[in-house]
Amino acid sequence: MPAPLFPLFADLHGRPVLVVGGGAVAERKTRALREAGAEIRIGAPALTPTLAEWAELGLITHLEGEFQPAWLDDVWLVTAATDHADVNAAVADAANRRRIFANVVDDAALSSVQIPARVQRGPLQVAISSSGAAPMLARHLRERLESELDESLGPLALLLQRLRPRITAQLPDIATRRRFFDTLLQGNVPGLIRAGRLYGATRQLLCLLGAPRQRPKRGRVALVGAGPGDAGLLTLRGLRLLNQADVILHDRLVSPEVLALARRDAECIEVGKQADGPSMRQSTINALMLEHALAGKTVVRLKGGDAFVFGRGGEELQALRAHDIDYEVVPGITAALACGAYAGIPLTHRDHANSLRLLTAHGANGPSEHEWADLARPGQTLAVYMGVAGLANFAQQLITHGRAAATPAALIENGSRPEQRVISATLDTLPALARQHAVASPALLVVGDVAAHADTLHWFGAAPLRPDPADEKKPWPARAA
Ligand code: SAH
Repeated sequence: MPAPLFPLFADLHGRPVLVVGGGAVAERKTRALREAGAEIRIGAPALTPTLAEWAELGLITHLEGEFQPAWLDDVWLVTAATDHADVNAAVADAANRRRIFANVVDDAALSSVQIPARVQRGPLQVAISSSGAAPMLARHLRERLESELDESLGPLALLLQRLRPRITAQLPDIATRRRFFDTLLQGNVPGLIRAGRLYGATRQLLCLLGAPRQRPKRGRVALVGAGPGDAGLLTLRGLRLLNQADVILHDRLVSPEVLALARRDAECIEVGKQADGPSMRQSTINALMLEHALAGKTVVRLKGGDAFVFGRGGEELQALRAHDIDYEVVPGITAALACGAYAGIPLTHRDHANSLRLLTAHGANGPSEHEWADLARPGQTLAVYMGVAGLANFAQQLITHGRAAATPAALIENGSRPEQRVISATLDTLPALARQHAVASPALLVVGDVAAHADTLHWFGAAPLRPDPADEKKPWPARAA
C-alpha cells in the first residue's frame, strides 16, 4: 500500500498562486483560492466571462497565451486545470523541477498535492482525502458530514476565536480548559447561536467562564416537527437535534422510522395525543417538558407534521416561556403539504385554486356558523385536518352553503407512509366511499378542483380508490385532467 498523503492546511493569504487554464474548472479552483486570500495569476489563452471580469477588476492577474515555465518563477503553488493532458503534464514537470507543489485536476499521479473534499463552517473546516484510493468514498463521507454538522458551528468557532485570549488567560490549566469546553458544547451556547442569539450566547459563555465546573442549571427544549411519517421528510436541523437529545417527548403520530434516527441512549417518552382513544392531558405534557428541562436535560419535543399547525406548539411554548426555559422551534412538513405532494394534488393551481386554507372540522377549532359560507366559496382549496369522523357533516354543510356537490374531494390516509391510501371522489360521494373503505385516522381531507388531479398525477403507492361508476345513480362526471 502506498503511504497515505500528509494533510496540510496552507496559508495562501497574499501569496502568489498560479492557475493554468481558463475554463469552468479553472474558474472553480480560482474561486476557492480567492476565498483563501491567494494572489492569483491565471495563465490561459482565453478566460470564462467571470474570470475575464475578475481580471478586468484587478482581482486576479491574467497571463495571456500558452503555458510558459517562467510563470512558475515566484509562485508557491500551481494548479493545472486545462483540457490538454500534455499541457497539464508540462506544468507538473516544470513545477517539480522548481520544487513547487502542483495540483493537476483529475490526475492524482501527476499531482504532488491534492485538493481535498471539504466541509466548511466559517473558519472550521473538515478536509477529507482517500489519498486517491477511493474519491467516491471521500465524497460520500463529505455528504454525510455536510448534513450532520450544523451551520451554527461557523459562528460558534468565530465566537470562540474572539474570546480565546480571555479563555486561555482565565483557565491556564489545560485539563480545566478542556472541561470548560465540554460543558460549553453540551450546554445552551450552541442552541443560542442556532437561535440567532449571539449576545445571549456570549453572555452565557462568559458566565460559564466565571464558574467552569458548574453545569448550566437549565436545559433547553427544541420543538421539532417530525413531518408526516416518511423519515426522509425530516429536516436536517430536526435530525441533528434528535442526535443531541437526552429526552424525546413524542406524539403517537411520529413514525417509528423517524424515532429510529434519534440518539440511541436518549430517553424516549410517548405522550400520545389522538383525536380518538386515550390521550395525555396537555398540562401533563407541559409538566414533563418542564421537569426534564429544569433538570438540565436537552429535550426534544417531537410532533407529527409541524408543531404550529394544529399541534398545540403555541401552548407548549407559552408554558416554557412562563418558566423562562430556553427553546427553539424547528418546522416540519405539515400533513397538508405532505399529503398534497404524495397524492399528486397540487394545493394551488393557476386554473383552479389561488388560495389554500388549513382547517379542522374537529372540536373547538371547527368552523363556526358564519364561516361556512366563506368556506363554500369556489376557487380555493380546503385542507381539513382531523376530518374523518365529521366528514359527512362537513361535506353536507359545504353543499348546503353553496359549494357544488360535484366539487372534487379526496381523503389521504397515512400520507407519505408505505400504507398510504387515497380516496378520490366528489363532495357528495366521498363520505359513503370513505365508509366503504373504512378510512381511519390519520387522514387528511382535500376539497377543491385540485383534488381531481390525484386521478392523473398520483405517483406514490397504490392508485386512488374511486367510486364504482355502476354504483352511481347518475353517470360519473367527466374529470378535468
Ligand atoms: N401537527 C400536525 C397535525 C396534527 S392534527 C401536522 O402539521 O401535520 C392530526 C391530523 O393531522 C390528523 O387527524 C390528520 O388529519 C392529519 N395528519 C397527520 N399526519 C398525517 C398523515 N401522515 N396522513 C394524513 N393525515 C395526517
